[in-house]
Amino acid sequence: MLYKRSSQLFVEANQVIPGGVNSPVRAFKAVGGTPIFIKEAKGAYLYDEDGNKYIDYINSWGPMILGHAHEPVVNAVVERAKMGTSFGTPTALETKIAELAVSMVPGIDKIRFVNSGTEACMSAVRLARGYTKRDKIIKFSGCYHGHSDSFLIAAGSGLSTFGVPNSPGVTQGTAKDTLLANYNDIEHVKSLFEANKNEIAAIIIEPVAGNMGCIPPKSGFLEQLRTICSESGALLIFDEVMTGFRLAKGGAQELFSIQADIVCFGKVIGGGLPVGAFAGRAEIMDYLSPLGPVYQAGTLSGNPLAMAAGLQMLTELNEDQEIFKRLDEKTAFLEKGMREVLIKNQVAFTINRVGSMISVHFDANPVYDFQTAKNGDNETFKIFFHELLKRGIYIAPSAYETWFITDALTYEDLTYTIKCVDEVFQSL
Ligand SMILES: *Cc1c(COP(=O)(O)O)cnc(C)c1O
Repeated sequence: MLYKRSSQLFVEANQVIPGGVNSPVRAFKAVGGTPIFIKEAKGAYLYDEDGNKYIDYINSWGPMILGHAHEPVVNAVVERAKMGTSFGTPTALETKIAELAVSMVPGIDKIRFVNSGTEACMSAVRLARGYTKRDKIIKFSGCYHGHSDSFLIAAGSGLSTFGVPNSPGVTQGTAKDTLLANYNDIEHVKSLFEANKNEIAAIIIEPVAGNMGCIPPKSGFLEQLRTICSESGALLIFDEVMTGFRLAKGGAQELFSIQADIVCFGKVIGGGLPVGAFAGRAEIMDYLSPLGPVYQAGTLSGNPLAMAAGLQMLTELNEDQEIFKRLDEKTAFLEKGMREVLIKNQVAFTINRVGSMISVHFDANPVYDFQTAKNGDNETFKIFFHELLKRGIYIAPSAYETWFITDALTYEDLTYTIKCVDEVFQSL
């Protein structure tokens, strides 16, 4: 494949955009080479500026669960745009999507819309602190909750990709209120609660981690977190920016039958437009301004284009009774096929999967936390990435990312992908 125009565009972008990208992982730094510039996309496929076609396993990092340029979503946005793109007033549309989200997700009464997953998690933590009148939070190493200051402490994917455990610009004062625990390590969490009695406002967690590859919670882990929070008066925040409206209608809460106190959304909920949201019981959510004392706002929050896209997306996910089963089956097919060819070629690997989130780690040992995720062989991953790219398969340019399966993928696409994985390792 030729990447002539992408290379040229990257040179130009670098003149005026730091690193040529508006979000770091896009830059291919972890795998080497020049990022491909995408011109358009349809269904399961991306088309770059040089005219190359790819099967897409990233899907804008999750949102395009029904495929790119999905017609009903595109139409909803186009029709809405004709009516004006932003008013800075309430709209009927916001109530409609809020009602739908509240009906789909277990245990939430109210939801507030923001513009990104980062904002959702940042606001959820402020709300938890305000509500509990405590300062400290627990986050897990390798979990990513967006790039706001409190979370840039062992934050997975983008940051581990670049080996920046703590970003400069985050003050010591902020960092000291974020306590770090190891994912799937309940004793670690208990010891933090012991050492910080009545000081912990919340635990924030990706109920299925997706930013250090895909890491499922060990059986009982989330239940134990729930118990600890309930007993200590801390809130349990599920960051479902990745898992929400992907693992089930009601996300990880539904899948694992666990009720969090605050749930954060992003990615799928916006149908491909910039949207985030956080939600919870009325008594907690009413602590927000203008009813309560915790301030949170946004000029473009609840933007009509974004709400139109999100509403159409959620409506389809709500009405299609087979969608999550179909996604699970497609991903299981991919998993089975890849396992077979990797075993055949004697590759040391671990595959983790929950529903339509899947990741391949080049290490034979179980991957259950950030440390074990880091044991993967990055050199093999780089070759894997570039060899798949050459064959028209686009996976995330980092070993710390989950693949996001879209319903637009056909079994033909999946079979071709498995064949390519086989080819890559046969030739090594
Ligand atoms: C992507 C992601 C975020 C951040 O969302 P943005 O929209 O990129 O700000 C937060 N939490 C999780 C779990 C994510 O995967």
